[in-house]
Amino acid sequence: MSLDTKADAYAVHWFRRDLRVAGNPALSRLRDEHQGRVLGVFCFDKAFLARPDFSLARFQFFIDTLKSLKNELTALGSDLMFCDIGPDEAFNTLFRELKGAGKPLPESIAWNRDYEPYAIDRDQRLQKWFHEQGVHTMSERDHILIEPHEIVKGTKPAGPYQIFTPYSRKWLEQFQTSAVQARIDEQKRGLAYVRKLRKGPVEPSFALTWAKIFGREANGWSVFEEYSAQNLKNVTIPIPPAGSLAALAQLETFKKHIDDFADARDIPSLEGTSRFSPFFKNGSLTTGQALAFFDLHRKEKLTKGEAKFLTELIWREFGYYILSKHPRVEREAFDERFRSLEWGNREDWFEAWKTGKTGYPIIDAGMRQLNETGWMHNRVRMIVASFLTKDLHINWQWGEKYFMEKLIDGDLALNNMGWQWAASTGCDAQPYFRIFNPALQSKKFDPEAKYIKQFVPELAQVAPKKIHLLDAQSRPRGYPAPIVDHDVERHVALKLYKVKAKREE
Ligand SMILES: Cc1cc2nc3c(=O)[nH]c(=O)nc-3n(C[C@H](O)[C@H](O)[C@H](O)COP(=O)(O)OP(=O)(O)OC[C@H]3O[C@@H](n4cnc5c(N)ncnc54)[C@H](O)[C@@H]3O)c2cc1C
Repeated sequence: MSLDTKADAYAVHWFRRDLRVAGNPALSRLRDEHQGRVLGVFCFDKAFLARPDFSLARFQFFIDTLKSLKNELTALGSDLMFCDIGPDEAFNTLFRELKGAGKPLPESIAWNRDYEPYAIDRDQRLQKWFHEQGVHTMSERDHILIEPHEIVKGTKPAGPYQIFTPYSRKWLEQFQTSAVQARIDEQKRGLAYVRKLRKGPVEPSFALTWAKIFGREANGWSVFEEYSAQNLKNVTIPIPPAGSLAALAQLETFKKHIDDFADARDIPSLEGTSRFSPFFKNGSLTTGQALAFFDLHRKEKLTKGEAKFLTELIWREFGYYILSKHPRVEREAFDERFRSLEWGNREDWFEAWKTGKTGYPIIDAGMRQLNETGWMHNRVRMIVASFLTKDLHINWQWGEKYFMEKLIDGDLALNNMGWQWAASTGCDAQPYFRIFNPALQSKKFDPEAKYIKQFVPELAQVAPKKIHLLDAQSRPRGYPAPIVDHDVERHVALKLYKVKAKREE
């Protein structure tokens, strides 16, 4: 098979956190511009496996999503190459092999943009390199509906938004524009394609495979299968179904709940939230698709539940806005007054928190939910994060890292924002003097203790009215006594923060 003429020109889509075909902006554009002659590449840097916050479960969910993407692309007449090296080395090797085999380089390489500091550097570096190779590049927005640079603030006070409410007002103005509405409508077409896919094979819309180029299968996939098998051996929690079809099923499930979202979202024993976060993380679902599915962009008036859900999606975009405008938050407190807080960092308390053995039932239920399922309810994330920082005086970065090790939806921007909110070190964070009382939170949001009993079976026989703050008589044998006294520790926290807050005033 020769690829010597202009008619043989083709393009490569570099998949990263946009693991879907449906409504994938850069992929669709390449497909249109190159008459379907588009091939996929995914690079996985092995060094990533050694990262201290690497999560086997999240990686497995990613692997499952990649498999489903590969199958989908193959059925559509394209292909996905897997490289088990970082993208610099991977593209270098690929280009060398293409040249060695006398094949042309791709005419274009495209990707959807990412906003994490590491990704921004990587993309700038590779874009330059592709251009040096004479390869055209193109990028599109995808996982953020309104990109950080599009939210333009007046000059007073100078600098980007730091408070959610004015940011969200600006976001909503953009949301009403015809350009944004058209992008969401485009996602509606993407969803229609997934519905068709669910019914059975769809018409191929791509016209090139790696095998056609190299005259043999691309090497990477067997390496990937090997990874996948090895990784699976070490995964200890059930991994939810992955990929576009699973994301569509989740959209349909949440359709039954969205109108109740405003009230149900805070009750951890209910299926009151969307559970979209793992899909958002790897792009098998996007904000645009969720909005399109529920027609939130076209409705004159949203129900209370829909309006609240839209606000949550804006919070998600705010997280990326903050990270992209202040990349330093990845390493340090946003609020400089609290960068040198004198944390106690007791290892034994940290261990009790991680393993769900603090003696505070709502904390233990949350941490066990995290350890056993790879997900935790938002309200409980806030409670356990507050407890770690304000009751145990442990650096929020320890908690942030532990969450990343365990969460299937673990996401730098949102995890960092959540932790800095709870630790009162972030922008628009919980003020340091407002400290959650775990027993009161528990009573308010899990009054019947259904959530607690689901994850802390030792407490199954304890009456709900006694469970939130167990006294020695009601505490079953085998369940730990509280490791700290909240009333004492909240004063310790207040002192710790107050000293710093004052010092910088
Ligand atoms: C300490 C802490 C750590 C967190 N770490 C992560 C993380 O690593 N990854 C992650 O995706 N979310 C994180 N969150 C935010 C939030 O808890 C999850 O997005 C949410 O629980 C996911 O469940 P869901 O999809 O059912 O959410 P829903 O309540 O159905 O909300 C829909 C979507 O809105 C967005 N959203 C909801 N709540 C928030 C929020 N508080 N901040 C930003 N976006 C939000 C998410 O994309 C979510 O999928 C964290 C929150 C806290 C307090």
